[in-house]
Amino acid sequence: MFTTLLNQPNANPIPNDLFAAIEDLKKELNAVILAHYYQDADIQDIADYLGDSLGLSQQAASTNADVIVFAGVHFMAETAKILNPDKLVLLPDLEAGCSLADSCPPSEFARFKSQHPDHIVISYINCTAEIKAMSDIICTSSNAVKIVNQIPAEQPIIFAPDRNLGRYVMEETGRDMVLWQGSCIVHETFSEKKMVQLKIEHPEAEIIAHPECEEVVLRHANYIGSTTALLKYCQQSDSDGFIVATEPGIIHQMRKAAPHKTFIPAPAMSNCACNECPHMRLNTLEKLYLAMKNRQPEITMPEATRVAALRPIQRMLEMS
Ligand code: SF4
Repeated sequence: MFTTLLNQPNANPIPNDLFAAIEDLKKELNAVILAHYYQDADIQDIADYLGDSLGLSQQAASTNADVIVFAGVHFMAETAKILNPDKLVLLPDLEAGCSLADSCPPSEFARFKSQHPDHIVISYINCTAEIKAMSDIICTSSNAVKIVNQIPAEQPIIFAPDRNLGRYVMEETGRDMVLWQGSCIVHETFSEKKMVQLKIEHPEAEIIAHPECEEVVLRHANYIGSTTALLKYCQQSDSDGFIVATEPGIIHQMRKAAPHKTFIPAPAMSNCACNECPHMRLNTLEKLYLAMKNRQPEITMPEATRVAALRPIQRMLEMS
């Protein structure tokens, strides 16, 4: 039995049991579904592997599947393609971009880099393939501190594109770095004032935050870490309540991992859902099904860009 998308007679029919249909397509295509923690709960539930940027890129590097269905944003699916040039990499919605990646246009970054010719470039994985191709090492929020600590002290560093993560890494490592002034709209939306008020209402709750948040938010945090680290922390902590300052999609896994604990999303400045990533949320279970059914939209890029972007990703995987 089928329903029809948007009631258009020629549109692809959407099966009523999407979960079963996607499982069938997975077998037919020898596909693996990789999903980020910021995806909708139903996408998280059907994924073969769920993780943050580091875990997903490690998984993409080691998969034996012929098709990678990437439920995340464009730069993540690009990373999977860079690591797997012979595999078909599908992104359910090609418009699923990233404000942080967009805040670092390649031509402007090339100019910025040329102004610092002695510096090596360490780029956060949340950037386009073109920026990766201009970088020496890629990092994620899980391994940024570890990677910067391995660079000789006399070697100057440009860190791009996230200024908040860059500043956090500078504090943790004691290294001075030249920062590209990019940021994520989601992680800069949290209100310090409302968060402090929430903490007064829930004094027992710990504040846990992603390092992409602004310094005014991080200074209230009991724990700062990548999404995977935040997930582990709330399981291991003795606290029963957490105010979570990152994209609230992760709370689905937190509730599964620690059902007896309370998780409160950190509030945004205005009364909106601005703490939800509008790019991540473009992917839906229906679009994921259609991408597998139609073998598109597919991620492609010029081979020269892919080869140049591969080297700094491999360095990251070696150094993490
Ligand atoms: S949460 Fe921020 S950094 Fe992550 S994909 Fe969305 S816009 Fe990009």
